[in-house]
Amino acid sequence: MVKGFRQDRKTIGFVPTMGAFHEGHTSLIKRARKENDIVIASVFVNPSQFGLNEDYKKYPRDIKKDKEKAKKAGCDILFFPDTLSIYPEGYKTYVEVKGLSDVMCGKSRPGHFRGVATVCIKLFNIVMPDIAYFGQKDFQQAVIIKNMVNELNMNLAVKTVPIVREASGLAMSSRNIYLTPKQKENAGLLYRSLKKAEQMIRAGVRSSSKVKSSMKKILGVPGIRIDYIAIVSPGNLSEKSVIDEDALIALAARVGKTRLIDNIVVRLKD
Ligand code: AMP
Repeated sequence: MVKGFRQDRKTIGFVPTMGAFHEGHTSLIKRARKENDIVIASVFVNPSQFGLNEDYKKYPRDIKKDKEKAKKAGCDILFFPDTLSIYPEGYKTYVEVKGLSDVMCGKSRPGHFRGVATVCIKLFNIVMPDIAYFGQKDFQQAVIIKNMVNELNMNLAVKTVPIVREASGLAMSSRNIYLTPKQKENAGLLYRSLKKAEQMIRAGVRSSSKVKSSMKKILGVPGIRIDYIAIVSPGNLSEKSVIDEDALIALAARVGKTRLIDNIVVRLKD
């Protein structure tokens, strides 16, 4: 089918996901709808990106609702392969983007980005999109996929779409359904700490450690455990001790047992 679209010179926009759609997912589909003739989204809870003690088994799955939401957002084809068709027994080929995969989320989730890169390259080879869309919410993931596509001379563009947030500022995530109301309230502090960082940088603070310690104060409540706070260059994720140009402020924290991530880019140019 995809070959037929390509022969007809139709452009294909592709949105890879793990399902349990929320407005973050549908914003990617809507963006793809605007920019392409055909929109394909995939739902695949990818076992190779979950660690042994992570939530692969209990990850939320609701393909019926996903189908409705995808259609409403303008998706033409929703692709939900089964695990064995992606990883047949004896599967052995993996892709790894070195360096970028070992920092930030890669430190606390060894092997995670190897799983992400592998499934993305497989999905790209199946769907053959012109443009693939990723959320800024998973900033590191988008940087890794862009590097992979570039270094492996793959024939597609990768675009990043802004983070969709709840009214409290909490970044939408399929994992938010794990949170109790109290935990949800605490989770709002993640974005508050990022906004504080932005405000400090805009006010002229250039020391990363000063910014980080203010963020730690905001996040220092019972029920939140910081995994990391990183201030890095958005292009190559290298750490910045002095914030002298555009910076990505990214964090991961456990709220109760749920691991959440969020980030903000502070642009200093213009
Ligand atoms: P997931 O299903 O969590 O793997 O996410 C699928 C895609 O949706 C990824 O590219 C995510 O970055 C993106 N995404 C998830 N949450 C959001 C959000 N709140 N805003 C924008 N994009 C998002």
